[in-house]
Amino acid sequence: MIDGFGRNINYLRVSVTDRCNLRCRYCMPEDGVSHIQHTDVLRLEELALLIRVAASIGIKKVRITGGEPLVRKNVTKLVRDVGAIKSIDDVALTTNGILFQELAEQLKDAGLKRVNFSLDTLRDDRFRYITRSEASVSAVRKAIDLALKLGLNPVKLNVVVIRGFNDDELLDFAHLAWAYPLHVRFIEFMPVGDLLFWERQRLVSMAEMKELLEQRYEMIPGKRVYGNGPARYYSLVGGEGSIGFINPISNHFCGECNRLRLTCGGMLRACLYDSHESDLKAALRSGADEDALRQIFIDTINAKPEKHKMETGWGSENRRRMYQIGG
Ligand code: SAM
Ligand code: SF4
Repeated sequence: MIDGFGRNINYLRVSVTDRCNLRCRYCMPEDGVSHIQHTDVLRLEELALLIRVAASIGIKKVRITGGEPLVRKNVTKLVRDVGAIKSIDDVALTTNGILFQELAEQLKDAGLKRVNFSLDTLRDDRFRYITRSEASVSAVRKAIDLALKLGLNPVKLNVVVIRGFNDDELLDFAHLAWAYPLHVRFIEFMPVGDLLFWERQRLVSMAEMKELLEQRYEMIPGKRVYGNGPARYYSLVGGEGSIGFINPISNHFCGECNRLRLTCGGMLRACLYDSHESDLKAALRSGADEDALRQIFIDTINAKPEKHKMETGWGSENRRRMYQIGG
Protein backbone atom coordinates (compact mmCIF):
# COMPACT_ATOMS: atom_id res chain seq x y z
CA MET A 1 0.00 0.00 0.00
CA ILE A 2 1.24 3.50 -0.84
CA ASP A 3 1.17 5.94 2.07
CA GLY A 4 0.38 9.66 2.04
CA PHE A 5 3.99 10.50 1.16
CA GLY A 6 4.24 8.15 -1.81
CA ARG A 7 6.13 5.41 0.04
CA ASN A 8 5.34 1.80 -0.75
CA ILE A 9 4.80 0.16 2.65
CA ASN A 10 5.72 -3.46 2.00
CA TYR A 11 7.89 -4.45 4.96
CA LEU A 12 6.76 -5.60 8.41
CA ARG A 13 9.10 -6.12 11.34
CA VAL A 14 7.61 -8.43 13.92
CA SER A 15 8.95 -8.51 17.47
CA VAL A 16 8.02 -12.00 18.65
CA THR A 17 9.14 -11.51 22.25
CA ASP A 18 10.36 -8.76 24.58
CA ARG A 19 12.63 -11.25 26.35
CA CYS A 20 16.32 -11.67 25.70
CA ASN A 21 19.22 -13.86 26.79
CA LEU A 22 21.57 -10.83 26.70
CA ARG A 23 21.34 -7.40 28.31
CA CYS A 24 23.07 -5.06 25.86
CA ARG A 25 23.84 -1.81 27.63
CA TYR A 26 22.28 0.37 24.95
CA CYS A 27 19.12 -1.71 24.66
CA MET A 28 17.95 -3.20 27.97
CA PRO A 29 18.36 -2.37 31.63
CA GLU A 30 20.36 -4.96 33.56
CA ASP A 31 17.65 -5.76 36.12
CA GLY A 32 14.05 -4.98 36.66
CA VAL A 33 13.09 -5.41 33.02
CA SER A 34 9.31 -5.24 32.90
CA HIS A 35 8.14 -7.87 30.46
CA ILE A 36 4.61 -7.97 29.25
CA GLN A 37 2.38 -10.61 30.83
CA HIS A 38 2.48 -14.01 29.20
CA THR A 39 -1.22 -13.84 28.35
CA ASP A 40 -0.71 -10.48 26.66
CA VAL A 41 1.88 -11.88 24.26
CA LEU A 42 0.32 -12.75 20.93
CA ARG A 43 0.22 -16.48 20.28
CA LEU A 44 2.06 -17.67 17.18
CA GLU A 45 -1.26 -18.33 15.43
CA GLU A 46 -2.36 -14.76 16.20
CA LEU A 47 0.90 -13.37 14.83
CA ALA A 48 0.53 -15.47 11.69
CA LEU A 49 -3.03 -14.28 11.20
CA LEU A 50 -2.04 -10.61 11.54
CA ILE A 51 0.82 -11.13 9.10
CA ARG A 52 -1.63 -12.70 6.64
CA VAL A 53 -3.84 -9.63 6.95
CA ALA A 54 -0.78 -7.40 6.44
CA ALA A 55 0.09 -9.40 3.33
CA SER A 56 -3.35 -8.67 1.94
CA ILE A 57 -2.57 -4.94 1.87
CA GLY A 58 0.82 -5.32 0.25
CA ILE A 59 3.33 -6.45 2.88
CA LYS A 60 5.83 -8.63 1.02
CA LYS A 61 8.76 -8.86 3.42
CA VAL A 62 8.68 -9.90 7.04
CA ARG A 63 11.51 -9.74 9.55
CA ILE A 64 11.28 -11.74 12.76
CA THR A 65 13.00 -9.89 15.57
CA GLY A 66 12.65 -9.17 19.29
CA GLY A 67 13.94 -9.05 22.11
CA GLU A 68 15.78 -12.15 21.06
CA PRO A 69 13.54 -14.01 18.62
CA LEU A 70 15.25 -17.36 19.16
CA VAL A 71 14.21 -17.48 22.83
CA ARG A 72 10.59 -17.64 21.67
CA LYS A 73 9.42 -21.25 21.76
CA ASN A 74 8.53 -22.68 18.33
CA VAL A 75 9.63 -19.59 16.45
CA THR A 76 10.53 -21.87 13.55
CA LYS A 77 6.82 -22.65 13.17
CA LEU A 78 6.14 -18.95 12.64
CA VAL A 79 8.92 -18.78 10.03
CA ARG A 80 7.28 -21.70 8.24
CA ASP A 81 3.76 -20.27 8.45
CA VAL A 82 4.83 -16.86 7.22
CA GLY A 83 6.90 -18.38 4.43
CA ALA A 84 3.80 -20.26 3.30
CA ILE A 85 1.83 -17.05 2.71
CA LYS A 86 1.86 -16.81 -1.07
CA SER A 87 2.39 -13.09 -1.47
CA ILE A 88 5.21 -12.93 1.10
CA ASP A 89 8.44 -13.27 -0.82
CA ASP A 90 10.91 -12.82 2.00
CA VAL A 91 11.14 -13.98 5.63
CA ALA A 92 14.24 -12.82 7.48
CA LEU A 93 15.55 -12.96 11.03
CA THR A 94 17.59 -10.62 13.22
CA THR A 95 19.32 -12.40 16.10
CA ASN A 96 22.17 -12.05 18.55
CA GLY A 97 23.22 -15.51 17.35
CA ILE A 98 23.67 -17.16 20.76
CA LEU A 99 21.00 -19.83 20.15
CA PHE A 100 21.38 -19.92 16.39
CA GLN A 101 23.58 -23.01 16.11
CA GLU A 102 21.04 -25.33 17.72
CA LEU A 103 18.16 -23.97 15.62
CA ALA A 104 19.88 -23.27 12.32
CA GLU A 105 18.91 -26.46 10.47
CA GLN A 106 15.30 -26.20 11.63
CA LEU A 107 15.14 -22.56 10.57
CA LYS A 108 16.55 -23.32 7.17
CA ASP A 109 14.18 -26.22 6.80
CA ALA A 110 11.30 -23.91 7.74
CA GLY A 111 12.21 -21.68 4.82
CA LEU A 112 14.53 -19.07 6.28
CA LYS A 113 16.66 -17.75 3.42
CA ARG A 114 18.75 -15.12 5.11
CA VAL A 115 19.81 -13.86 8.50
CA ASN A 116 21.19 -10.76 10.23
CA PHE A 117 23.45 -11.20 13.23
CA SER A 118 24.13 -8.44 15.72
CA LEU A 119 27.70 -8.33 16.97
CA ASP A 120 29.34 -5.13 18.17
CA THR A 121 32.80 -6.34 19.08
CA LEU A 122 35.20 -9.15 18.23
CA ARG A 123 36.85 -9.08 21.66
CA ASP A 124 35.55 -11.26 24.47
CA ASP A 125 36.09 -8.80 27.30
CA ARG A 126 34.22 -6.09 25.43
CA PHE A 127 31.50 -8.52 24.40
CA ARG A 128 30.91 -9.52 28.01
CA TYR A 129 30.87 -5.85 28.98
CA ILE A 130 28.42 -4.63 26.34
CA THR A 131 26.08 -7.63 26.58
CA ARG A 132 26.40 -7.88 30.38
CA SER A 133 26.70 -11.65 29.98
CA GLU A 134 29.17 -14.49 30.18
CA ALA A 135 28.63 -15.37 26.54
CA SER A 136 31.57 -15.33 24.16
CA VAL A 137 32.20 -13.89 20.74
CA SER A 138 33.05 -17.37 19.48
CA ALA A 139 29.42 -18.48 19.90
CA VAL A 140 28.33 -15.75 17.48
CA ARG A 141 31.29 -16.33 15.15
CA LYS A 142 30.36 -20.03 14.95
CA ALA A 143 26.75 -19.09 14.25
CA ILE A 144 27.88 -16.86 11.39
CA ASP A 145 30.11 -19.60 9.97
CA LEU A 146 27.22 -22.05 10.14
CA ALA A 147 24.83 -19.62 8.42
CA LEU A 148 27.35 -19.23 5.58
CA LYS A 149 27.91 -22.99 5.42
CA LEU A 150 24.17 -23.65 5.22
CA GLY A 151 23.99 -21.31 2.27
CA LEU A 152 21.81 -18.65 3.89
CA ASN A 153 22.18 -15.61 1.69
CA PRO A 154 22.76 -12.83 2.35
CA VAL A 155 24.27 -13.14 5.82
CA LYS A 156 24.57 -9.69 7.35
CA LEU A 157 26.36 -8.52 10.45
CA ASN A 158 24.98 -5.50 12.32
CA VAL A 159 27.52 -3.50 14.28
CA VAL A 160 26.33 -0.57 16.39
CA VAL A 161 29.30 1.79 16.37
CA ILE A 162 29.93 3.49 19.70
CA ARG A 163 32.80 5.92 20.15
CA GLY A 164 35.15 4.87 22.91
CA PHE A 165 33.80 1.31 22.84
CA ASN A 166 34.32 -0.29 19.43
CA ASP A 167 35.30 2.48 17.02
CA ASP A 168 38.84 1.05 17.00
CA GLU A 169 37.50 -2.27 15.60
CA LEU A 170 36.06 -1.03 12.32
CA LEU A 171 39.00 -2.32 10.32
CA ASP A 172 38.74 -5.72 12.00
CA PHE A 173 35.08 -5.94 11.00
CA ALA A 174 35.93 -4.73 7.51
CA HIS A 175 38.44 -7.54 7.28
CA LEU A 176 35.61 -10.03 7.86
CA ALA A 177 33.69 -8.47 4.97
CA TRP A 178 36.80 -8.74 2.85
CA ALA A 179 37.60 -12.36 3.72
CA TYR A 180 34.07 -13.82 3.76
CA PRO A 181 30.86 -13.28 1.76
CA LEU A 182 29.51 -11.29 4.68
CA HIS A 183 27.72 -7.95 4.58
CA VAL A 184 28.92 -5.91 7.52
CA ARG A 185 26.67 -2.97 8.33
CA PHE A 186 27.87 -0.22 10.61
CA ILE A 187 24.90 1.33 12.38
CA GLU A 188 24.81 4.71 14.05
CA PHE A 189 24.09 4.53 17.74
CA MET A 190 20.55 5.84 18.28
CA PRO A 191 19.03 7.57 21.28
CA VAL A 192 16.23 5.12 21.98
CA GLY A 193 14.36 4.04 25.10
CA ASP A 194 15.87 4.91 28.45
CA LEU A 195 18.87 6.39 26.67
CA LEU A 196 20.97 3.77 28.40
CA PHE A 197 24.59 4.33 27.59
CA TRP A 198 23.64 7.04 25.10
CA GLU A 199 25.68 10.23 24.85
CA ARG A 200 25.82 12.40 21.78
CA GLN A 201 29.61 12.22 21.67
CA ARG A 202 29.43 8.42 21.35
CA LEU A 203 27.89 8.83 17.91
CA VAL A 204 30.30 8.18 15.02
CA SER A 205 29.11 9.58 11.70
CA MET A 206 29.23 7.66 8.45
CA ALA A 207 31.71 10.18 6.99
CA GLU A 208 34.12 9.49 9.83
CA MET A 209 33.74 5.71 9.54
CA LYS A 210 34.23 5.77 5.81
CA GLU A 211 37.34 7.91 6.01
CA LEU A 212 38.88 5.48 8.46
CA LEU A 213 38.05 2.41 6.35
CA GLU A 214 39.42 4.00 3.19
CA GLN A 215 42.83 4.15 4.79
CA ARG A 216 43.06 0.38 4.23
CA TYR A 217 40.42 -0.57 1.67
CA GLU A 218 39.43 0.70 -1.72
CA MET A 219 35.66 1.04 -1.47
CA ILE A 220 33.40 1.12 -4.49
CA PRO A 221 29.77 2.20 -4.15
CA GLY A 222 27.92 -1.03 -4.68
CA LYS A 223 24.50 -2.12 -5.65
CA ARG A 224 22.04 -2.82 -2.89
CA VAL A 225 22.44 -6.14 -1.19
CA TYR A 226 19.18 -8.05 -1.34
CA GLY A 227 16.91 -6.95 1.44
CA ASN A 228 14.92 -3.95 2.39
CA GLY A 229 17.34 -1.95 4.34
CA PRO A 230 18.32 1.64 4.13
CA ALA A 231 22.04 0.78 4.14
CA ARG A 232 24.43 2.34 1.63
CA TYR A 233 26.68 -0.43 0.45
CA TYR A 234 30.27 -0.46 -0.76
CA SER A 235 32.20 -3.39 -2.08
CA LEU A 236 35.80 -3.84 -1.06
CA VAL A 237 38.18 -4.28 -3.96
CA GLY A 238 39.43 -7.88 -3.95
CA GLY A 239 37.03 -8.84 -1.17
CA GLU A 240 34.16 -11.29 -0.85
CA GLY A 241 31.50 -9.30 0.98
CA SER A 242 30.54 -5.68 1.44
CA ILE A 243 30.35 -2.84 3.89
CA GLY A 244 27.12 -0.95 4.55
CA PHE A 245 26.31 2.12 6.57
CA ILE A 246 22.99 2.74 8.27
CA ASN A 247 22.71 6.34 9.36
CA PRO A 248 19.35 7.09 10.84
CA ILE A 249 20.71 10.24 12.43
CA SER A 250 23.30 11.82 10.15
CA ASN A 251 21.38 10.97 7.02
CA HIS A 252 17.85 9.88 7.75
CA PHE A 253 16.18 7.64 5.22
CA CYS A 254 12.56 8.41 6.11
CA GLY A 255 11.76 9.33 2.50
CA GLU A 256 12.35 5.69 1.52
CA CYS A 257 11.02 4.09 4.70
CA ASN A 258 8.82 1.15 3.73
CA ARG A 259 8.26 -0.38 7.16
CA LEU A 260 5.72 -1.08 9.84
CA ARG A 261 6.47 -2.65 13.22
CA LEU A 262 4.38 -5.07 15.22
CA THR A 263 5.20 -5.69 18.89
CA CYS A 264 4.71 -9.06 20.58
CA GLY A 265 1.86 -7.44 22.50
CA GLY A 266 0.05 -6.72 19.26
CA MET A 267 0.71 -2.98 18.95
CA LEU A 268 1.31 -1.72 15.42
CA ARG A 269 3.69 1.20 14.87
CA ALA A 270 4.36 3.05 11.66
CA CYS A 271 7.60 4.68 12.84
CA LEU A 272 10.18 3.60 15.41
CA TYR A 273 10.23 7.17 16.69
CA ASP A 274 6.54 7.94 16.72
CA SER A 275 4.73 6.85 19.87
CA HIS A 276 1.42 6.50 18.03
CA GLU A 277 0.34 2.83 18.07
CA SER A 278 -2.72 0.87 17.03
CA ASP A 279 -3.93 -1.95 19.25
CA LEU A 280 -4.34 -4.96 16.99
CA LYS A 281 -4.46 -7.39 19.90
CA ALA A 282 -7.47 -5.71 21.51
CA ALA A 283 -9.27 -5.76 18.17
CA LEU A 284 -8.29 -9.37 17.45
CA ARG A 285 -9.27 -10.67 20.86
CA SER A 286 -12.57 -8.84 20.86
CA GLY A 287 -13.56 -10.66 17.71
CA ALA A 288 -12.64 -8.23 14.90
CA ASP A 289 -12.81 -9.93 11.53
CA GLU A 290 -10.09 -9.72 8.88
CA ASP A 291 -11.68 -6.66 7.24
CA ALA A 292 -11.66 -4.76 10.51
CA LEU A 293 -8.04 -5.76 11.18
CA ARG A 294 -7.11 -4.75 7.64
CA GLN A 295 -8.65 -1.34 8.26
CA ILE A 296 -6.40 -0.88 11.31
CA PHE A 297 -3.35 -1.56 9.13
CA ILE A 298 -4.62 0.91 6.54
CA ASP A 299 -5.32 3.63 9.12
CA THR A 300 -1.90 3.14 10.69
CA ILE A 301 -0.18 3.43 7.32
CA ASN A 302 -2.17 6.57 6.55
CA ALA A 303 -0.95 8.07 9.84
CA LYS A 304 2.73 7.23 9.18
CA PRO A 305 4.70 10.43 9.80
CA GLU A 306 6.79 11.92 7.03
CA LYS A 307 9.98 11.67 9.08
CA HIS A 308 11.28 10.83 12.51
CA LYS A 309 12.24 13.43 15.08
CA MET A 310 15.21 11.57 16.47
CA GLU A 311 17.26 14.72 16.75
CA THR A 312 14.79 16.09 19.32
CA GLY A 313 15.16 13.02 21.54
CA TRP A 314 13.02 10.03 22.37
CA GLY A 315 10.22 11.89 24.14
CA SER A 316 8.74 11.05 27.51
CA GLU A 317 5.45 9.97 25.93
CA ASN A 318 7.29 7.21 24.08
CA ARG A 319 6.74 4.31 26.43
CA ARG A 320 8.49 1.56 24.53
CA ARG A 321 12.08 0.43 24.36
CA MET A 322 14.12 -1.02 21.52
CA TYR A 323 13.79 -4.63 22.77
CA GLN A 324 10.01 -4.12 22.86
CA ILE A 325 9.64 -2.49 19.45
CA GLY A 326 12.10 -4.76 17.74
CA GLY A 327 15.03 -2.63 16.60
N1 SAM B 1 18.08 -9.50 19.82
C1 SAM B 1 18.21 -9.37 18.41
C2 SAM B 1 19.54 -8.76 18.04
O1 SAM B 1 20.21 -8.18 18.91
O2 SAM B 1 19.90 -8.87 16.86
C3 SAM B 1 17.10 -8.62 17.74
C4 SAM B 1 16.52 -7.41 18.44
S1 SAM B 1 17.64 -6.04 18.63
C5 SAM B 1 16.63 -4.87 19.49
C6 SAM B 1 17.69 -5.45 16.95
C7 SAM B 1 18.83 -4.53 16.62
O3 SAM B 1 18.65 -3.29 17.29
C8 SAM B 1 20.21 -5.03 17.03
O4 SAM B 1 21.04 -5.07 15.88
C9 SAM B 1 20.70 -3.99 18.00
O5 SAM B 1 22.08 -3.81 17.93
C10 SAM B 1 19.93 -2.77 17.55
N2 SAM B 1 19.85 -1.73 18.56
C11 SAM B 1 19.32 -1.81 19.81
N3 SAM B 1 19.43 -0.63 20.45
C12 SAM B 1 20.05 0.23 19.59
C13 SAM B 1 20.45 1.61 19.65
N4 SAM B 1 20.24 2.35 20.73
N5 SAM B 1 21.04 2.16 18.55
C14 SAM B 1 21.26 1.42 17.43
N6 SAM B 1 20.89 0.13 17.31
C15 SAM B 1 20.30 -0.46 18.38
FE1 SF4 C 1 18.92 -8.46 23.43
FE2 SF4 C 1 19.19 -7.69 20.90
FE3 SF4 C 1 18.65 -5.90 22.84
FE4 SF4 C 1 21.04 -7.04 22.81
S1 SF4 C 1 20.19 -5.71 21.21
S2 SF4 C 1 19.69 -6.80 24.63
S3 SF4 C 1 20.59 -9.03 22.05
S4 SF4 C 1 17.33 -7.51 22.16
